[in-house]
Amino acid sequence: MFGCTTEFRLRDILEGLTCDQHIIAQDVKNKNGDIIKRYIKGRVDQLKQLWASQPGWVAPHWYEICLERPTRLFMDIESTAPADVVQRGLTAICKYIEYDLKVVPEVMNSCSEQKQSYHIVAPVFFKNVYHVGAWVRKCYQYMQTRIAVNKENHAGISLEDVRAVHEPECIIDTVVYTRNRAFRMCGSSKLGSPRVLTHPRLAWHDLMVQPALPPGVEPLTQLEFDDSEPVSTSMSAGRMFHLEGDTWQRTNPIQQHSGTQSVVGSFPRKLEPVVRWLEDHWLMDRDSAKFNLKRGTWICSTRCHRCLIAERDHRGNHVFLVISPNGRVIQRCHDEECQRQFMNIDVPEEHWASWFESWYSPMNLTMGCQKRSI
Ligand SMILES: [Zn+2]
Repeated sequence: MFGCTTEFRLRDILEGLTCDQHIIAQDVKNKNGDIIKRYIKGRVDQLKQLWASQPGWVAPHWYEICLERPTRLFMDIESTAPADVVQRGLTAICKYIEYDLKVVPEVMNSCSEQKQSYHIVAPVFFKNVYHVGAWVRKCYQYMQTRIAVNKENHAGISLEDVRAVHEPECIIDTVVYTRNRAFRMCGSSKLGSPRVLTHPRLAWHDLMVQPALPPGVEPLTQLEFDDSEPVSTSMSAGRMFHLEGDTWQRTNPIQQHSGTQSVVGSFPRKLEPVVRWLEDHWLMDRDSAKFNLKRGTWICSTRCHRCLIAERDHRGNHVFLVISPNGRVIQRCHDEECQRQFMNIDVPEEHWASWFESWYSPMNLTMGCQKRSI
């Protein structure tokens, strides 16, 4: 429609993507009533036409997929603290943006009575989403340092406002700066929620995180505090580093792939029905599959927050799956409380049929070794 294309798999919609196109994720219900994402690809003018063609869309559940491109500063502010406290924290954050980046941020609101929720977008471009993440961690460190040294006034930000950023816990969501993250767009609600993200003046296309880079604009580079290159990470700032005296130290060394044990690999063709079932039911990302040579299993990440171990949805992390060639699939989880546990996933048996047939197909041993079709 209007030159836009749609797909249900992110990898399919990413194929052939041109730099003037954007990818929008939209919440829709599948036939089981589960909320899944449908992906729409198009240029901004095409997406505007699509939006305008749907007068019934009061709030069309649109999210911008953050690709590896120049990206504006964006932040997610969330808290169950009292509204006036969160407002103070928000003021401190906006003032720090103005002080450090010399731009005035735009604030979108989707608060309810139970929850304070804001999105910030500022008109300044960073090299990519991960560099935005590094800047947000810098902002977090600024606030923490202010509290640690008890500095009353700096950059026009009062200590009381700084304290409100961490009241009772940090209101900045620091774990959203990951690859292909979906960021809700202005004018949209999550499917099933009445809370619409609103801005007093501007529309979704004014408030995109990855609009085209204006000519002559050089995106900013923001390294981590120890001068390392930022990477896609769902680790919170509070877990990544800590203050020792008056200097910041990394809590965990930068995670390195073990390299010796896993190889990037695609799934065998006969496993395709299982892979598709896991894509449909667990939002598995098949492109992330790694084969563990030692254990003989595939490890694969997902875009699914639902965790069978914790028996709830995680806000900050996706779960991952381990697929064993013996027909077993388990769900694991990066969450601190879940990471030593696992739960079995029952993939309906018929999806395994082609895989096991390839192993158990009869061979005539007396005729010697014959070619088997796999
Ligand atoms: Zn979990």
